[in-house]
Amino acid sequence: MSILSVSNIEAHYGDLQALFGISLSIDPGQVHSVIGANGAGKSTLLKVIAGNLPASSGEVTYQNKKINNQSAHERVKSGISLVPEGRRIFSSLTVEENLKVGAFTKRAGHWNLKTLKELYPLLADRWNRIGFYCSGGELQMLAIGRALMANPDLLLIDEASLGLAPVVVAQVYASLSEITKQGTAVLLVEQDVHQALRASSTTSVLLEGKVVMEGSSSSLTIPSIKDAYFGVGASNGLD
Ligand code: ATP
Repeated sequence: MSILSVSNIEAHYGDLQALFGISLSIDPGQVHSVIGANGAGKSTLLKVIAGNLPASSGEVTYQNKKINNQSAHERVKSGISLVPEGRRIFSSLTVEENLKVGAFTKRAGHWNLKTLKELYPLLADRWNRIGFYCSGGELQMLAIGRALMANPDLLLIDEASLGLAPVVVAQVYASLSEITKQGTAVLLVEQDVHQALRASSTTSVLLEGKVVMEGSSSSLTIPSIKDAYFGVGASNGLD
């Protein structure tokens, strides 16, 4: 039984249509990746699921309930947390204070200040540092940590590895298996195709607001994705 399914989602920014009938579903404790080039609609899809942008048509079903009309706040309370693109950490608050902000829903669960210190020892070392002085990697861990403080059943992560050093990317990805071990499903938007396929059990490839390929991540190969990713006939490199 899937925890989330979206069916035939369309979304607009004013007159501009960004999503054209997107459908996908994800099971509890699984990682589903959404890949695609710049402007494919990945962030828009996450916004629709998180309730930050209304779907113009289609259904968002979470834990067997249609949630199209729920506000973003209600969705957080019911267990959907978004790690937004750009991370949006409060730069004048410390690591600890930023994490506490994430706990406002008071949902019970595995994640708290102590377990997050164990998940991200690097953050434990920076506990009293304000966001302004944190590195990109620390901010990404903090952004995921803050979302986890709401003890979500579904974690939406936008661009987990963007701009991060490989060693930090490895740490962020290693933490995903700890997160799913708690039963949380992860919907991962990622531009790094190799990383996305490795980290997920299922994948959707978006092109210009449509799903052009989907399947189990182990069945999708880089050559098979290449044309779908850039549009058939495109030759620029996805190495
Ligand atoms: P990126 O990796 O660059 O973030 P993406 O796959 O996440 O790309 P989206 O950000 O979802 O793509 O953008 C999908 C389409 O919607 C693009 O054509 C983009 O220009 C447009 N778009 C995104 N945000 C807005 C906005 N706030 N107002 C108007 N158009 C937008």
